[in-house]
Amino acid sequence: MELIVARNREDLVKARVAGEVALVPTMGALHEGHRSLIRLARARADQVVVSIFVNPLQFAPNEDFSRYPRTFDADLDVCRAEGADVVFHPSPADMYHPDRQVSLCSGEMGKIVEGASRPGHFDGVLTVVLKLFNLVQPHVAIFGQKDAQQLALIRRMVADLDVPIEIVGAPTVREPDGLALSSRNRYLSAGDRQVALALSRALRQGKAEATPSRIRAAAMAVLDAAGPELDLDYLALVDPATFAEMGESYAGPAVLAVAARVGGTRLIDNVTLTLNPA
Ligand code: AMP
Repeated sequence: MELIVARNREDLVKARVAGEVALVPTMGALHEGHRSLIRLARARADQVVVSIFVNPLQFAPNEDFSRYPRTFDADLDVCRAEGADVVFHPSPADMYHPDRQVSLCSGEMGKIVEGASRPGHFDGVLTVVLKLFNLVQPHVAIFGQKDAQQLALIRRMVADLDVPIEIVGAPTVREPDGLALSSRNRYLSAGDRQVALALSRALRQGKAEATPSRIRAAAMAVLDAAGPELDLDYLALVDPATFAEMGESYAGPAVLAVAARVGGTRLIDNVTLTLNPA
C-alpha cells in the first residue's frame, strides 16, 4: 500500500478507514526508537498513522524549536519501511488557529521534575496530543518510556478527561553502549557523546541498588565523575504514576530519571526499578 501523506485536516479525513487505528505521535528526525513504536502500532491496528509535527507550544523561547532537526524525506522512508499507512504532517498554522484561546493545563504534576526545568512544556505537549487524538481518532496511541513523565501525564489526561483511547508505553531503545536514542543526539560531538554515556551508566548503577539513598548515591557518583562537561539538571527518584519523590522506606516500583546538558544539548533518560524489594 502506498504511504499517504496528509498535510491538513481534510487530507486526514480522506485517509480515514473503518477498523482499528493506531497513532504514533512524533516530532520527526525518526530513529530506531520511533521505529520500535511504529512496529508496535503495526502489530496493534489495521491503520497506522504517524504524526510528524515539531510542536511550537512545547518549546520555551530559549529552547531549540527553530534548530530542532527536520528530516522529513528520510522520515517518510522510515515510515514506509515500517509499514505505516499515513503520515500526518501539518504546518503550525494548520494546527493552531491564530485566535485560539483554550489549551490544556497539566496541573501540579506538570510543574515538577522535568516540568520544573521546562515551565509550560507539558501544557504544550498535552494540548497537541489531545488535538492529534481528536484529529486522527485512534483506538490506541503509542508513546515511549524514554519520556516517562510525558507518558505518565498522557495516561493521566486520558483518565482525568475520559479520553476513549488506549495508551501503550514502549521500552526505551538504546545504542549498544547504553546511550538512549534521541533526535537530539545528532547535536553531540564525539567528545560530548562520551560524556553523555554517564547518564545511562548512572541509571544502571542506581538500578543495581535497593534503597532510595543508595540508589541516589550510586547514580550521583557516576554523574560527579563525568566532570564539568556534564551539567546536571536533576536526578530524581519518583513514583512512576505521579512523579512525586520517593521516601526511604517505600517498597515498590519507581522511576530513576536524569536530565543534563552536555555541550549545550539537553538530554534526558530514565530507568524503572523496584525499591526495597522483599
Ligand atoms: P519525539 O519525536 O522525540 O517527540 O518522540 C516521539 C515518541 O518517540 C515519544 O513517545 C518518545 O517517547 C518516543 N521515543 C523517543 N526516543 C525513544 C527511544 N530511544 N526509545 C523508545 N521511544 C522513544
